[in-house]
Amino acid sequence: MNHNYSGVSRSAAVVTAYLMKSLQLAFPDAYAKLQATKPDVSMNEGFVNQLKLYEAMGCNVDATSSLYKHYRLQKVMEKYPELQNLPREVFAVDPTSTCQTSLSGDVIYRCRKCRRALFRSSSILNHTYGSGPTAFTHKRLSSEVMLGAEGTVKCTSYFIEPVRWMESALLGVLDGQLLCPKCSWKLGSFNWYGVQCSCARWVTPAFQIHKNRVDEILPVHIPGLQKGKM
Ligand SMILES: [Zn+2]
Ligand SMILES: [Zn+2]
Repeated sequence: MNHNYSGVSRSAAVVTAYLMKSLQLAFPDAYAKLQATKPDVSMNEGFVNQLKLYEAMGCNVDATSSLYKHYRLQKVMEKYPELQNLPREVFAVDPTSTCQTSLSGDVIYRCRKCRRALFRSSSILNHTYGSGPTAFTHKRLSSEVMLGAEGTVKCTSYFIEPVRWMESALLGVLDGQLLCPKCSWKLGSFNWYGVQCSCARWVTPAFQIHKNRVDEILPVHIPGLQKGKM
């Protein structure tokens, strides 16, 4: 790609982001405002997508949001075939590691067979927001989704960010099974090109854990909530 072109595109993106944040404008309005003063301005699709993400996050870059994690995974996937190592930051900390204490309200999911802790609720990537072709599905299903908690009503799987224990399984292949790191029970599968959830939405890339293979464990330190839970 031409360096000048991407330079112009980058500065247009920076100015547009500034307008969005300072004037609280939606992306198309901020971009139109910039184009009104600089008609020759241009922005490539990559920047447009980043700014749409920025808008969806309320003009704050929140690295813990599921939108951001999902976007980051998609960027990794674009480079995937040539990728030798996955960037460390795409992996969630293994919930069995002792260096991270449980955040309050963070539910831990365990293997139903051997009880090994597998991932935290903060690693679940919500796939109910619309973007690209899924936006239409989103509109059509939104009223039904509202009825269920967090839109999980029709989903038989959790789609999560990759967790550290998956690392060896993910490298060098486009898809495969996700096995419990302790008892090797099949928990689900992954596919860098995506998987269609039971709710009809495509999730790309997909790290899919079947809900019936894991148990939800609420944090025990929340008074009143541990009662009646395994
Ligand atoms: Zn297990
Ligand atoms: Zn779903």
